Parts: sequence; C-alpha cells; structure tokens
Amino acid sequence: MALKYVTEGNFNNKNVIARFDFNVPLSKDGSGKITDTTRIDSALPTIKYILEQNPKKLIMMSHLGRPDGEVKMKYSLAPVAKYLAEVLGQEVLLTESCTDRSIKTIIKLNKQKLILLENLRFHKEETDGNDEFAKTLSEYGDVFVHDAFGTAHRKHASTYQIIKYFPNNSFGGFLLQKEVEALNKIVDKPAQPFIGIMGGAKVSDKIKIIEKLLVSVDKLLIGGAMAYPFLKASGHNVGKSLCDDEDVKLAKQILASPLKQKMIFPIDHLCAENPDGAATHINKLDIPDDQMGLDIGPNTIRHYNDILKSAKTVLWNGPMGYFEKDNFSKGTFAIAESISKLKAFTLVGGGDSVSAINKSGVSNKISHVSTGGGASLEFIENGTLPGVQALKFGVN
Ligand code: AMP
Repeated sequence: MALKYVTEGNFNNKNVIARFDFNVPLSKDGSGKITDTTRIDSALPTIKYILEQNPKKLIMMSHLGRPDGEVKMKYSLAPVAKYLAEVLGQEVLLTESCTDRSIKTIIKLNKQKLILLENLRFHKEETDGNDEFAKTLSEYGDVFVHDAFGTAHRKHASTYQIIKYFPNNSFGGFLLQKEVEALNKIVDKPAQPFIGIMGGAKVSDKIKIIEKLLVSVDKLLIGGAMAYPFLKASGHNVGKSLCDDEDVKLAKQILASPLKQKMIFPIDHLCAENPDGAATHINKLDIPDDQMGLDIGPNTIRHYNDILKSAKTVLWNGPMGYFEKDNFSKGTFAIAESISKLKAFTLVGGGDSVSAINKSGVSNKISHVSTGGGASLEFIENGTLPGVQALKFGVN
C-alpha cells in the first residue's frame, strides 16, 4: 500500500488534526525565547498548504522537552504559539491542556482557525501510547496529518495509535515526505559506489546501524572516537583516547565478520594530553600512553577524500573528531567540504553531524540534511519507521 501525502487529502471545510515536531530549544535563562526555530520552520510548508485548502480548523499538536507526564510550565508550547502567530500572520489559540473538555466547544466556534494543543507530554498517556488518550485526540479532527518525522520512530499516542481512528483519512506531511523519500534512496538500492562515513563517540549506540550498513556499502570510513575501540580491538595502543571496554567488545564482534574488509580506519591522528591542549600530529596507528586521539590526521583526510571521489551515494553520521574545539575540527570540516563537492546523492543525518555540517557552512550543498536524528538512523536500520508503517497500513 502506498503512503498518502497531504496533496492527496481533501481538507476543505474539515477539522484537520495534525502532529508536528515543535520540540525547539529554549533559552536557558527562563525567558521562553526560542533559540533555534528550524523545527517550526520545517513544518510551515505543510501548515500553509492545509490552510490554503480552506479547512474549518487546523488543530496542531506537539511535544516539547521531557516533562515526564507532568504539567511543567517551563515546557509550555506558549512560545511556539506566539512564533506561529507571527510567521503565519494569524491568531493561534493555545489550549490549557490537550484534553481540555472545552476544546470540542472551541472547535465548534467560529473564531480562530488555528488551534495549538498544549504539550502532549504533560500526560504520560502520550509516551505510553495509551489508546483512550489517542481516541480523545482523534475526536478533535475529521482528518489526520503526520508531519513529525523526528518522532515517527516512536509508538506514541499522537504519532501512532491515533492513526487507528483515521483508517482512510491519514496523510503524511511535506517534511515527512521529504525525509522518507531521501532515506529511501539510501535504503533502497543506493547508487554505487555507496560510501558510509561513521564517526562520533559510541560504538554501542551505533552498532546496529554499522552492521546494517556493512551489508549495503562498498566502504565504511570510520572516524572520531568511534575509531579507537576498533584500533584497540586490533591490538593497537590508543593511549588516553575515549575508549570504553564495552565498545572494544562490540568492535571485536564486528571485526570477526568477513564484512570487516569494507571498513577503513584512520592511519594517523591529531592528539593532545587533554581536549584543551594544542594538537600534535601522531603519524602512525598507535597513540602514545600520555596522549588522547581527538581528530583524524592529514593523511587520513587525504585517504578518505580519495575514496570519496568516486562515490555516487554518501551517508554520513557522526563527527570525525572533537569538532567543538577549533584545534580538532579540521577532519570533520575537511570531510564536510569534500562531500559537498561530490556529484553524488549525499545524506547527512544525526544530531551532531547536522550541527557540524551547519558549522562548516556547506549544508546547502548536501543533497539532504536529515533533521530526524534518532528517527533517520532507525529508518536506515529497519528500512522504515512505526509511524510511517502506520500511515501505510493502519494500526489494529
Ligand atoms: P555522537 O553523538 O556519538 O555522534 O558523538 C558526537 C560527539 O563525539 C561530539 O560531541 C564530538 O565532539 C565527540 N567526539 C568525536 N570524536 C571525538 C574524539 N576523538 N574524542 C572525544 N570526543 C569526540
């Protein structure tokens, strides 16, 4: 069954209930200022499209932060309602809670077209995937739209269970569509050669995706602190580098597979005695006892760039070093620069890789920068997500 997107829906004179990911970062000073509006901005094409179809009401829902099932006003969606009203030029009514008895009356009234339900995660039923809670939310709308790609890997009430109540009337939004189509290019017969680049800090977080990728990639380039458990597992000295015993065990497991031949590791390193130190070039595999590896070295950059030259598909997750420190950002930025010049389908996914690519200033030259973080990695691991499956096949 095909997934239906908003362009196939009929919203004219309907109450549309839509799930977005408005989980934006707020200023730590308690002023409620949104420090990065990207997530709201990414939802605007879907919101504007629905409004152009002349619905009766658009009822928007989202979570913000981790209030853990309790009403904590620092996680109120009030700043989001204010920002939406500004960018859409229309009033946005924020409800007192998402299960307020008055919501049904408000929907019947003619005043505001745009309603934002207060934070779904003020109720633990949301993350529990509670059916009654999903049913209550579903009663606000005639049609359901899912555009919260960043939470589509969760079986929550508003991202999954609710779809049960809209068996023929559930649609994916434009953001979800863009993400699914881009990720399908990686999952579904990627153009060859397909080169994966994995960095970041922990093997345990990424073991499943490494195992999955090793089947489909031609080569998997490893960088960042991710490299040291593999080097240690191969008998090399990693000095004081980040390297957890559990990760060394997992690395040994992966290296026991014949697919290990596809893995390429750093051949030199930038090191220091501590992350605040100046960079020393260690031009060999072994890192001295008093040093920690904090970036890939220049020979590794050259080697990786050579491999990348012929790529037709590139997937990158995780920085090549401690890129937040200028002394150790060269590897990450060099790889960002080099993939931005390729004539290939390039996809960057996962929180830190996205901030690294934004910091390097080449994000507009990447085919797709996935905003999904966990959701995009899970999509690559499993070839789909629960929220996407539910839109396609429904929920029993
Ligand atoms: P992850 O969330 O697993 O992608 O890890 C990203 C984090 O790993 C970033 O904050 C990087 O600064 C950090 N990182 C990458 N390489 C290193 C390294 N060699 N030493 C210490 N931290 C690193």
